[in-house]
Amino acid sequence: MTFRGPATDLDRDELLRRYAAERDKRIRDDGNDQYVEPVGKFAHFLDDPYAEPEAREPLTDEVDVAFIGGGFAGLVTGAKLKQAGITNVRIIEKGGDFGGTWYWNRYPGAQCDTAAFIYLPLLEETGHMPSEKYTHAPEIAEHCRRIGEHFDLYDNAVFSTEVTGVEWNDDACRWTIHTNRGDAMRAKYLAMGTGPLHRPKLPGIPGLERFEGHSFHTSRWDYDYTGGDPSGSPMTALGDKRVGIIGTGATAVQCVPHLARAAGELYVFQRTPSSIDVRNNRPIDPEWFATLEPGWQKRWMENFTTLQTGGFTDEDLVMDGWTDISLRIRDKLLSAPKPDLSPEGMLRAYHDSDDEKMSEIRARVDATISDPETAEALKPWYRQLCKRPCFHDQYLDAFNETNTHLVHTDGRGVEEITESGVIVDGIEYELDCIIYASGFEVGTEFSRRWGYDVCGRNGEMLSEHWDDGMTSLHGIHVHGFPNMFIVSPTQGANLISNVPHNLTEAGETIATVIAHANDVGAEQIEVTATAEAAWVAKLESGGRTFGGDPTCTPGYYNNEGKGADEKATRNSLGYPEGPVAYFEHIDRWRAAGTFDGLVFR
Ligand code: NDP
Repeated sequence: MTFRGPATDLDRDELLRRYAAERDKRIRDDGNDQYVEPVGKFAHFLDDPYAEPEAREPLTDEVDVAFIGGGFAGLVTGAKLKQAGITNVRIIEKGGDFGGTWYWNRYPGAQCDTAAFIYLPLLEETGHMPSEKYTHAPEIAEHCRRIGEHFDLYDNAVFSTEVTGVEWNDDACRWTIHTNRGDAMRAKYLAMGTGPLHRPKLPGIPGLERFEGHSFHTSRWDYDYTGGDPSGSPMTALGDKRVGIIGTGATAVQCVPHLARAAGELYVFQRTPSSIDVRNNRPIDPEWFATLEPGWQKRWMENFTTLQTGGFTDEDLVMDGWTDISLRIRDKLLSAPKPDLSPEGMLRAYHDSDDEKMSEIRARVDATISDPETAEALKPWYRQLCKRPCFHDQYLDAFNETNTHLVHTDGRGVEEITESGVIVDGIEYELDCIIYASGFEVGTEFSRRWGYDVCGRNGEMLSEHWDDGMTSLHGIHVHGFPNMFIVSPTQGANLISNVPHNLTEAGETIATVIAHANDVGAEQIEVTATAEAAWVAKLESGGRTFGGDPTCTPGYYNNEGKGADEKATRNSLGYPEGPVAYFEHIDRWRAAGTFDGLVFR
């Protein structure tokens, strides 16, 4: 169901004044520094509640390819390597199994907001049919394990193992990988896909350490305490508990309905409301699935990417909230008597369609919430893409439950945490349990997020090489770091609405490059300094960065309202002509077989 409200609920000037006022309320001088790292007395927030590390001897052996990170990046790259005949691959993962973000995020209701057909990689290769359009976390984690098994990636993998440092030995042409398990493994090739959203952060609230009740971060859900399980079974142990959840981002939106059903009393502490668009999930019909022709998944991914990034196709295969945003803008443009395709015309079309969309979203709140004051507090006042758009059909309804209380802090956040609860506006809310739905580190230094640094040729550290921001060819190869590959959206397609599409293409590129090195008997692969500089210059000429609009309400999309400085801009650059053009470029680059920019020694 699409909710249709009034075309716009305020005139443009009034709307922009309201948006600016709501933003200004939330701007803080300390920006990203407001958050607390889970280290020292907070280190226990990182403990793995799902697996005990297995005892094993330190490893000092050698593999052809070592991959740091067992999420989709490692899995798709591992699969592509195996398909290319490169079999001696080791994935090193800090979690107790494959899955990456889907290993850690097992909170009740966890689900992917990108349609399963394009989000779950290697569906055709593994023969899996997703059970529903937007799959829940247990099925995604199971698919990760399926990929691991299908491509024999378990054989050589090491789990519950955190990399602490990596160094290149130029004489031996090998990487040495050190870990917290005492390993000093060697590898001819090193690849890394550690993801942007794996290091939890805690809200910087005075008294955080004082709370004497139970507490955990959503990415380490404590089912021993709550009862229930990730499949959504009732959390029976919460029936007599007063539970507080701090944060109302994409994670909280999914788990609040479950907490509302289970908790004695639930207090949702809100700093900024999320925009809650329609979810409209549905099961997949196996008969229809059987009609899909071989090669369908690539076609679906390309169709989504084209539409989602403003392109034209005959049909919308995925038809979801992401393509809806783009199609509305396109329709606005094309419905004008004289379509204005200039950047200003496009921006105008975006603003017009966004005004309508956000009015619908606010009207949906009014239509759902019975208490007018609560409804008012749940309305988002910013452009939809200022913060992560959310899609849910039960979140708003949860606030109609008598046990569920919205504590709206009107942009100020929770004031203080005490031994027994949380203070907002001078009122103390006594709690048995605090759940931190406070997100992950996104914009911080990579060596802090990764937890290790990489020492390349001549002892140069990657953090030094990237002192002024990331430099690479295709987001994959870095000069001075031979035989090393990075798997991420950055400095490539930078397609945020479907991250696995970026990863799959990067995995394909790495497998093709290594297979070529093997064919020509090369020991070293390295991008030239010239090719690296030319790629960065090309990216900078287009200025396509992720987020960074300082006029938006603060959040991790815009560096907490500070916008991106030169370094942060570099760290989030994408191909100037957009994701579709990047994917075409990299396809041509691989197919040409000359691997322009790389030297094979
Ligand atoms: P977010 O960073 O999006 O949200 C953190 C929340 O904590 C915000 O609501 C923030 O408020 C709030 N907060 C921070 N400090 C305080 C404070 N002092 N007092 C009160 N509230 C505070 O984290 P999430 O885990 O929700 O989501 C992270 C990302 O993970 C998503 O954006 C998405 O990309 C991904 N994700 C994807 C899902 C999917 O595909 N379905 C599901 C879940 C997550 P404020 O907004 O004011 O900063």
